[in-house]
Amino acid sequence: MAVLYSETRQDSYMQLTPLEPWIAHKIGLTGQQLDIKALQAWQLKKLNETLHLASQKSIFYRRHLQGFPNELGCLSDLQQLPLTSAADLRANPLAFVCVSQDEIARVVTLQTSGTSGLPKRLFFTTDDQELTTDFFGVGMETLTKPGDQILILLPVEKPGSVGDLLRQGLQCVQRTPIPYGPVRDPQDALMQIDRLRIECLVGSPSQVLGLAQRWEAGMHRPRSVLLSTDYVPQAILNTLENSWGCQVFNHYGTTEMGLGGGVDCEVRRGYHLREADLYFEMIDPSSGKLLPPGEYGEVVFTTLTRQGMPLIRYRMGDRSRFIPGQCPCGTQLKTLEHVSGRWEGFLTVGEQILRLSDLDEALFALPGLLDFKATLQGSPGQEELLIEAIWEHEVEDSNAARSLLLELPSLQSVDVRISHRYEPDYPGSLQKRIIHDLRHQLPL
Ligand SMILES: [Zn+2]
Repeated sequence: MAVLYSETRQDSYMQLTPLEPWIAHKIGLTGQQLDIKALQAWQLKKLNETLHLASQKSIFYRRHLQGFPNELGCLSDLQQLPLTSAADLRANPLAFVCVSQDEIARVVTLQTSGTSGLPKRLFFTTDDQELTTDFFGVGMETLTKPGDQILILLPVEKPGSVGDLLRQGLQCVQRTPIPYGPVRDPQDALMQIDRLRIECLVGSPSQVLGLAQRWEAGMHRPRSVLLSTDYVPQAILNTLENSWGCQVFNHYGTTEMGLGGGVDCEVRRGYHLREADLYFEMIDPSSGKLLPPGEYGEVVFTTLTRQGMPLIRYRMGDRSRFIPGQCPCGTQLKTLEHVSGRWEGFLTVGEQILRLSDLDEALFALPGLLDFKATLQGSPGQEELLIEAIWEHEVEDSNAARSLLLELPSLQSVDVRISHRYEPDYPGSLQKRIIHDLRHQLPL
């Protein structure tokens, strides 16, 4: 692919993200200039195709989207549709699948950190995987040159794993992938980097940091690094750049996104996104309302081209914002600021940690509970937890929820107040479970 330089760039050496001409080509434009109106028309068309597919073939979405418009007239109509949560996905992953089992090429099971939490399972067809491979190849053009040797420190063994798809993607753009896998012996990995004159590393922040810390002067050093799979603290970026003098790029991608979501351009102030395959929104995590560029909220995405298991308005729980204005690389694509933590992480109550998943585990053990909203308020040491519980039937034992919550160690010294609402026709479920008012305590 030819290298394009943007006419509007501020720095004459700043290269346009390779995602832009790639997306222009994907949506059928001739030439490499992206027309934003054409991209929006493509997104609307693909959103409607996804809505039709999901509401016809997915057991979950047939129910979840009932009573909502099944044809969008414009992109902003999407905000009328209900959100999908990780809890929905955990509850019954197979209910999301839109193809027959023999069309599924890969299943990824994600264990949750809690002991009793159900795992998330994601299903992909061969075509779904090829979309990701294609993105990985183009994304890597940002930080590598043809002929570069790239050491892959991500899991590579299983066909369709993140490292395997990256390997295939790199081959498509004439780079030389060296599959290595997660580092178990840092000295051995450093020896390979030195011996093979590796130009670029792809790995998780902690692993790459471990290598940089053990690197010794005189050894070959990589020119660029792509960090993936984790939230990246600025301290790690600084250490890598200082020890190796290399450029560090961030990738944003989760299994739910199909392993790849977006990648930094040379400006490295945020990710450009796979906008032909994924439609991103920013919502207020409390109200669910759409937020304008510049405002921090929770990342939500909808798959546009996935066949096996489309996701509609899936809540990532990640905190970020769209950076207003044009990226200095000159792209017309959106720029998503680097993710800076999770909205639904945990709250500190006195010396204890209260996780939203703890409340889930306690309250959803009660038969008939449809949803709840939790608000922790007050000052440190004098917290008060307000729970609004929504039931599908009249509450028989109004103290049951309170007793369960008081068993949680983090709520021992907290005043818990519960209000009950009988709402058999409650629209959707699991969408209002948010803790706010103490948002400043979240690890932002
Ligand atoms: Zn850019």
